[in-house]
Amino acid sequence: MTYRKRLLLYVAMLVVLLVGMMLLSFKTARDVIMSSSEQHLYHASLRHQDRLDAERDELLHYTDIIAADEPLQHAVSALLTSGSGAETLASYYQRQFASLSVDHHAIVSRDGRVLLGSESPGLAAEVRERQRAGASGHLYYRADQGVMMVAMQPLVHDDREIATVAVARLLGEQWLARRERSSAEYLLFFGQHGRVLWSSNPQLQNLFLREDQRELHGPDHYFRLHEVRLENSGPDLPRLWFATSEARLMALLERYEVWVYLFALLGGGAVLMTGWLLLRNFSRPYEQLMSTTQQLIDGKLPVMTRSASSHEMGRLVNRFADVLDALREEQVEVRRVHRKLQETAITDSLTGLYNRRYLQEVTPGLFAQAERDQRYLTAILLDLDYFKDINDRHGHLGGDAVLVHFARLLKHNSRVNDQLFRIGGEEFLILNVTDNPEDSVQLANKLRELTDRSPANYQGVVIPNTVSAGISCCFGTTGGDTLSQLLRAADKALYEAKAGGRNQVVLHSSCRSAAASARRRRTLELVKSDAQR
Ligand code: GH3
Ligand code: MG
Ligand code: MG
Repeated sequence: MTYRKRLLLYVAMLVVLLVGMMLLSFKTARDVIMSSSEQHLYHASLRHQDRLDAERDELLHYTDIIAADEPLQHAVSALLTSGSGAETLASYYQRQFASLSVDHHAIVSRDGRVLLGSESPGLAAEVRERQRAGASGHLYYRADQGVMMVAMQPLVHDDREIATVAVARLLGEQWLARRERSSAEYLLFFGQHGRVLWSSNPQLQNLFLREDQRELHGPDHYFRLHEVRLENSGPDLPRLWFATSEARLMALLERYEVWVYLFALLGGGAVLMTGWLLLRNFSRPYEQLMSTTQQLIDGKLPVMTRSASSHEMGRLVNRFADVLDALREEQVEVRRVHRKLQETAITDSLTGLYNRRYLQEVTPGLFAQAERDQRYLTAILLDLDYFKDINDRHGHLGGDAVLVHFARLLKHNSRVNDQLFRIGGEEFLILNVTDNPEDSVQLANKLRELTDRSPANYQGVVIPNTVSAGISCCFGTTGGDTLSQLLRAADKALYEAKAGGRNQVVLHSSCRSAAASARRRRTLELVKSDAQR
């Protein structure tokens, strides 16, 4: 896997990890908050349960007092035996027990007659019902305005249960209002079949009650519920719920959730950005280094753009650029030395003219040029006269000075395309590709005259000297031993010059006919061009 792909993978893993951690932390925080809220709800509802139980005990205590009242027992017994005295019983009861804090009273005989409390037929009916079942203690039943909490006791006279005494308190809207705190965040209400039946707050009527989920909610409300149990109640009795509003908590959590997503997004973005920067900062110099090394492998020495940044990769790139610069300088030096060596190898150290080795190298090219252009290649072989005598007279260094002097004379007076060689001790050669060999004859004569006229000077001593020359030429010919043929012919002419008394130029016979044909060709061309004009 490439470095770039690996980096992308790490960045993706980091993003997933970051987002995952944010979401997990949110979920954990949410769970903790919800569970502590649940605990709070549970403890608050327990307090309501205790208060409800206390009210029930209070009612039971009232029935104890009423049932234990002997005049009441006598009055009930008298009413049951004689069938009269209902008013007496009612007024006595009123006098004795009207101050008790209850909403309804009833005394029902064993055979089901309502002796007291006919204005509360519902209560009397419930007592009659339970009496038949032989129940005592407390019970709840559904009334029109709410749930009725009832306490019952048997009324005993002469060790005989003759009736049942019952008191009841209505758990209606007023009762609920008294027990609720004033805050709108805590509610107490009765509900059944998914709706609120009785509540001190009329706004709750429209909310959805989900008893199984223990929640009450609407567009702007959200309450968590806990049941306050009504013991000894039948299955069809509405349930009493204690509720705490969690709208604020939910809004808080929602806001928190938005922040979590925002931070996850920002964090993910930051990681991606960092990854991109890393990739850019490392990838570019890396690719630069790779392409440079590839060019090095291909034998090139490229110029590397230096990095402006000071990070590790930037420093590495700059080091690499330094190495390349050093290599380049080295290469320039090597090339210079190589050129120098090449020059030395083909140059005569004393005169600075080309040597024999270069002669071998350059002649095939000259022959090819002559062949291609259909021109003449001429060779002027020059040999200083009586040079041995000069050496003898002025010493070897004096002889060298004459050689240097003569070479300078050659350089200054030769033509642009003349190739100058020192091919022996005091032997020189000029090769030239020309249209007319006559030019070379003229040059040779000019050089001979100049040599004769300008003596060398060594340590203030004037050394006169002369030169003899032999000229040969060929017309566009190539071949293995052409150079030696050319030189042999020139040597022959030179020999003739020496034999003829030296200080003269001799043209080889082959060259004489070449010069003549060149002359003829030129005359022909001149005639042609005249005719065209
Ligand atoms: P000729 O007119 O017939 O050419 O007579 P010459 O004396 O010039 O010819 P010869 O061949 O007899 O003598 C050439 C001399 O050149 C012999 C040798 O000592 C001398 N010589 C060869 N190379 C050098 C050199 O590099 N420096 C010096 N000073 N003398 C050299
Ligand atoms: Mg010689
Ligand atoms: Mg000589």
